[in-house]
Amino acid sequence: MEWWVSIPKIELHAHLNGSIRDSTLLELARVLGERGTILFSDVEHVIRKNDRSLTEVFKLFDLIHILTTDHSTVTRITKEVVEDFASENVVYLELRTTPKRKDSVGMSKRSYMEAVIEGLRAVSAVDVDFAPDNSQTRSFPSIDDTQIQTTRKKIYVRLLLSIDRRESTEAAMETIKLALEMRHLGVVGIDLSGNPIVGEWSTFMPALKFAREQGLFITLHCGEVPNRAEINAMLDFLPQRIGHACWLVEEEWRKLKSSKIPVEICLTSNITTASVSSIDIHHFIDLYNSKHPLILCTDDSGVFSTSLSREYKLASSAFGLGSTEMFQLAKTAIDFIFADDGVKKDLIKIFESASEKLG
Ligand code: 5GP
Repeated sequence: MEWWVSIPKIELHAHLNGSIRDSTLLELARVLGERGTILFSDVEHVIRKNDRSLTEVFKLFDLIHILTTDHSTVTRITKEVVEDFASENVVYLELRTTPKRKDSVGMSKRSYMEAVIEGLRAVSAVDVDFAPDNSQTRSFPSIDDTQIQTTRKKIYVRLLLSIDRRESTEAAMETIKLALEMRHLGVVGIDLSGNPIVGEWSTFMPALKFAREQGLFITLHCGEVPNRAEINAMLDFLPQRIGHACWLVEEEWRKLKSSKIPVEICLTSNITTASVSSIDIHHFIDLYNSKHPLILCTDDSGVFSTSLSREYKLASSAFGLGSTEMFQLAKTAIDFIFADDGVKKDLIKIFESASEKLG
């Protein structure tokens, strides 16, 4: 097994519908093609395509949502996505998804999320811990040292509910309330995502403020486009993490660094969408050298044909970081997860045990 695959890893920025296997998308497209809902030949090349601009990415998501948004498919893709992350030794996954209402299939935001939870329960290839410690539904007890050596592979999964930038304040508030009601099922936070040229920060801020007051953690897609006012407002909001941070200017870098807000870095996504023009000038290395908290993530492993192991390998080769530094980078992600201290302690044990094994 390749070293990048063998080390334990933590994934904190993965969108459910962006992380679907191409083979599953093609299979779903074929079925809808046979039913006459779509023209398979029209969508096949879109799914198979590898390089996509940011605008094309959001068009692709609209297509993916047509293919996936019914309850049984949501359950299926959740199961597969968790199994795929676990198969490359992701030991903790914060999976984010936008709760969707689709009247034509009797879907509400709540029933969408119930289908996601069903997907977590359906995973059979590995053990899944998805509910917090104090809940009746936690699937497995805390790990002790002997378990690390002997048990089946285990993955911790926690959920973030995403607000799509196309949504209204009321719709965003509905998502927050749902998140609060589903905390016992492992929902730990809220993400703001969706096409960055759509919507206004002032629309989402009241709902995000409410979420924070209620104790939910917040991560924001920030600086995917050069929107100065929004970048500053987001940094001033002091979310627990931000994703991307591609288009910050000098003064905003200073603000970010003094705030110590951890950054979820998605290298392949940023390069593919041309949010950063080339890997050599990616802000990863400046933040890394400044010891700013950061976490390597995939964003959309399906859409960008990547994996977390590949992202680690890419960072290592692009920025000349050795295995000791990369292992340490993977381990420090523990500090930035939204799950409780019990999970953090378990993860520390997993990394210590791996460190002994890998030498
Ligand atoms: P879902 O929430 O449906 O499970 O995952 C797909 C959704 O995540 C997309 O429709 C979009 O709202 C959001 N998303 C995925 N990747 C990106 C990205 O790179 N940037 C932004 N801003 N949103 C994204």
